[in-house]
Amino acid sequence: MAELMITTLSRARSGAARRLPAVALSVALAALSAYGWQSGGRGPGAAPAVATERFSGLLLPSGEAIPNLSLVQQQIQAAYRSGQWSRAITYVSQEAIRAVDERAPGATKPAIVFDIDDTALSSYQVESRMNFGFVEAVWDKWAESEAAPANDGVLQLYRHALERGVAVFFVTGRHERLRAATEAQLRKGGYERWTGLQFKPDNYQEPSVVPYKSGARRRITEQGHRIIVNIGDQWSDLDGGYADATFKLPNPMYYIP
Ligand SMILES: [Mg+2]
Repeated sequence: MAELMITTLSRARSGAARRLPAVALSVALAALSAYGWQSGGRGPGAAPAVATERFSGLLLPSGEAIPNLSLVQQQIQAAYRSGQWSRAITYVSQEAIRAVDERAPGATKPAIVFDIDDTALSSYQVESRMNFGFVEAVWDKWAESEAAPANDGVLQLYRHALERGVAVFFVTGRHERLRAATEAQLRKGGYERWTGLQFKPDNYQEPSVVPYKSGARRRITEQGHRIIVNIGDQWSDLDGGYADATFKLPNPMYYIP
């Protein structure tokens, strides 16, 4: 691919490497490691080698190495299982609760906008099943037949907003055809009432969801609401204005432009 810089180095013969003076060897190793190569030794006592056949030099134009997909999948699983991810969501949600407390009293018809997937509800289980890819048939079947657990921190924010008299709106990238399934998942997850629930039109063709999501927020403000908080797991949930404060949750599983 044109935008990728591919760096290859021929394998150094270990015999030749051993004859190099120590200084020259360390300079060479530093230069190689700058290009993403590692020495062949995997621990104390391992045979020294300047470079192995291990190819790790697929770089972005920025010089940053492209991560290994399988290792990233393992990291995502570890972050989920350790509770680190959930704690990060709770931390951001607590910040949003503070914003509700600060902004709701002075606002006319205050409103809060929630994204659904990996904001209000976790789709980790089905994502994990798809190896963090996306298979629409698998996703739809999951939405129509299974529960999706709430993200606890976000559920707390939802309840807090309702208690403060803030109108709740969900603006989701799910298609309109999943309305009944989504309402059922929200209720099972603990989100029992809302003022509005907006789905992406089934025929939506834009490359980004920003026009759809910001348009939905604009219509909420046109109904006289002031959106004091908008929370989502994608930047595209938040870009495009029509919210006084925005809160971004972590989501290492996928990216939605
Ligand atoms: Mg989402």
